[in-house]
Amino acid sequence: MSSTDVGTTTAPVPPQSTYQHRVADYWNAEENPVNLELGRIDDLYHHHYGVGDVDRSVLEGSDPALRQERITAELHRLEHAQAELLAARLGPLSPADRVFDAGCGRGGGSVVAHLRYGCAADGVTISVKQAEFANEQARKRGIEGSVRYHCRDMLDTGFQSGAFAASWNNESTMYVELDLLFAEHARLLRRGGRYVVITGCYNDTYGRASREVSLINAHYICDIHPRSAYFRAMARNRLVPVHVQDLTAATIPYWELRRQAEHLVTGIEDTFLTAYRNGSFQYLLIAADRI
Ligand code: SAH
Repeated sequence: MSSTDVGTTTAPVPPQSTYQHRVADYWNAEENPVNLELGRIDDLYHHHYGVGDVDRSVLEGSDPALRQERITAELHRLEHAQAELLAARLGPLSPADRVFDAGCGRGGGSVVAHLRYGCAADGVTISVKQAEFANEQARKRGIEGSVRYHCRDMLDTGFQSGAFAASWNNESTMYVELDLLFAEHARLLRRGGRYVVITGCYNDTYGRASREVSLINAHYICDIHPRSAYFRAMARNRLVPVHVQDLTAATIPYWELRRQAEHLVTGIEDTFLTAYRNGSFQYLLIAADRI
């Protein structure tokens, strides 16, 4: 064997998988009114669903423009309530703390955490457009010194080990393998740090992924995990659940309102409602301690 022949032929390994490119393409191109019009209300851009009781009076009234405006505001209120529910589980935190927002979208969650605790936040998204948009929003608010967004893979962030007091995934775990994800959270969190996830998961008691769960996977190019997978992967990665909350009943009113918002629907609304109602799909919050 010559010194240059190492005995194997290797194809170059791309830094990002083809799948991740497709996910990035999706989010780079995404301009759904349900994401942008809601965010414009107060410059808090949430790309997740809502929780809580609906004020159904927003569906009444004869002025179509006013009706649309009120429905938009109500959906935003419910999405914001979901973000606050997650943020409340991250604490207590102080302005000296740093938090990690994994799969941060257009950045609303990091702003919510910063406004609540004064902490520094680093958000990571695989979409360069989202990271740029979110950084621009932080500049406009004058919080760019504390809240920063990065176009990176949340499985491999390059951030310093143990540097974070809290971290979370808000509806972004279905794009990755949980063991790889939780290993990165465990690495980044200090001992005693808090991890929180809100996610749609398929219900193990139903059996396997239902038709509706498969349709949601196809719609978003993702791979919804079963509920059980979260607890297994956490146990393997030093994350010990301290609070588990089934938010399924709390999110159904949001979807019932959204399906009637003809100016905002994306076409997936009835699939979500069927999935929640037939017991194959759950909306779940888990908070865990990093030991
Ligand atoms: N958490 C945000 C956005 C949820 S949408 C919110 O609550 O508003 C899903 C997000 O996951 C998108 O921003 C997408 O870019 C991100 N994502 C998917 N795979 C990723 C990966 N491997 N690394 C980082 N972000 C990823």
